Amino acid sequence: MRKCLYRMIAAVLLAALLALAGCAQAGKDKKLKEASPPEDTVFQVSTINALLQGLYDGEMTCGELKKHGDLGIGTFDGLDGEMIMVDGSVLQVKADGKVLPAPDGEKTPFAAVTFFRSDQAQQVKEVADYSQLQRLLDGLIANRNMFYAIRIDGTFSYVKTRSVPEQAKPYPPLVEVTKNQPVFEMRNVRGTVAGFYCPPYVEGFNVPGYHLHFVTEDHQQGGHLLECSLQEGEIQMDETREFYLMLPAGSDFAMADLTTDRAEELNEVENSISGGKRIE
Ligand SMILES: [Zn+2]
Repeated sequence: MRKCLYRMIAAVLLAALLALAGCAQAGKDKKLKEASPPEDTVFQVSTINALLQGLYDGEMTCGELKKHGDLGIGTFDGLDGEMIMVDGSVLQVKADGKVLPAPDGEKTPFAAVTFFRSDQAQQVKEVADYSQLQRLLDGLIANRNMFYAIRIDGTFSYVKTRSVPEQAKPYPPLVEVTKNQPVFEMRNVRGTVAGFYCPPYVEGFNVPGYHLHFVTEDHQQGGHLLECSLQEGEIQMDETREFYLMLPAGSDFAMADLTTDRAEELNEVENSISGGKRIE
């Protein structure tokens, strides 16, 4: 009888323990799920200040980068052109204006990508220039302290982009490279703008505000967006709560002095609409 009672108590205790463990696991799973839905993470390789300083050695392959997103922007090993990732394809806009699909083995020294899942969309018409476009985007950003991935598909009456030529070591700072940036002008093209809005506090590791790249629908032309006017199109935004920063493992990054304030350089590099070479 007593043996039976002990067995019952043991069974009840075991059941309680299992239930507790189950709850704990469920709680953990829930927490993990809430913490990191992969589609709500900006995944970034290196920092913008490292790039500004001339750290152009590729860090991660495009094949690996695709595991972390299907839309984004960046550059390539040795600063060999502008990267735009759309619908999971990594495209390389070379300094001569040609656009090539980047091989999975090609590396990137700097990129930011996410799995783009639109939270909101808005049809737009007759957007005169990039500053008007930015004001429209401002109106869609509910929380200026959050990250937003941006995608705009449409017909552009005018687009101006730039790319960057591949560099040899010793690498010059980015601001020196973009002084001679090739710029491209396109008229009446269908295409896609992709990139990010980052909050002001990212200064030093990403670009505060808008950083957008462009590629034509036929993947023939594109680059870092400098100016545009949009005939009609659709803006889509993906509010993204999480940020994953992958730092370079190499000694160049270890030795780099990343304490310099490069806000002015960044502004010049990102927004300078003049170029050394104009290609239409
Ligand atoms: Zn860019």
